[in-house]
Amino acid sequence: MCPERWVVATRNPHKLEELRAIIKYTLSIELLPEGFPPIEEPFSTLDANAWAKAHKAWHLLKKPVFAEDTGLEIDALGGKPGVHTARYGGEDLTISQRRQLVLKQMKGITNRKARFRTVLVAIIDGVPHFFEGVVEGRIAEVESGHGGFGYDPIFIPDGYEQTFAELPAEVKNEFSHRARAVKKFLKFCRSIS
Ligand code: IMP
Repeated sequence: MCPERWVVATRNPHKLEELRAIIKYTLSIELLPEGFPPIEEPFSTLDANAWAKAHKAWHLLKKPVFAEDTGLEIDALGGKPGVHTARYGGEDLTISQRRQLVLKQMKGITNRKARFRTVLVAIIDGVPHFFEGVVEGRIAEVESGHGGFGYDPIFIPDGYEQTFAELPAEVKNEFSHRARAVKKFLKFCRSIS
């Protein structure tokens, strides 16, 4: 059976908002309870980090849980920031400084191809299930837009001339990396009902 109620192992309110918008309230999603210990991302792949987050939440809560880990992969930077997207440039930078670092590293580079990749791990009855979503695009020359979060102001998805931060949330949530991973998860979950 596809559980009706899920806990999502994240502290990121933007992710939660997007997840709820994508799932369109067909499943109920709760945040981690107050006082839940910090969740680390210690591994060198998105799969392992997503699994570690989901497993920790499942281990402590014993409820259906899912977690996701997302990375921005830039071809000209050899796939960086990749799994280090959240901490790119060092622990102390703001997200705005991280975006500026990427733009600086990409200055003068014509191959601007990049992608967002999300790995979602859902644990049902103690068994992990993996779902991946990818959206291809390119790194903008400058920041634009105020929507979305994270690196959205510098990422232009293929087929568009605007960044994710300039596009309406409904458009991003229709085909983003996160939407693609979540849709695979929902399809699987419904298939076991
Ligand atoms: P994590 O999955 O929580 O490790 O997030 C990795 C990093 O990617 C964070 O710094 C976020 O700001 C960024 N990020 C995650 N999802 C998105 C997205 O949908 N758009 C832009 N940046 C994102």
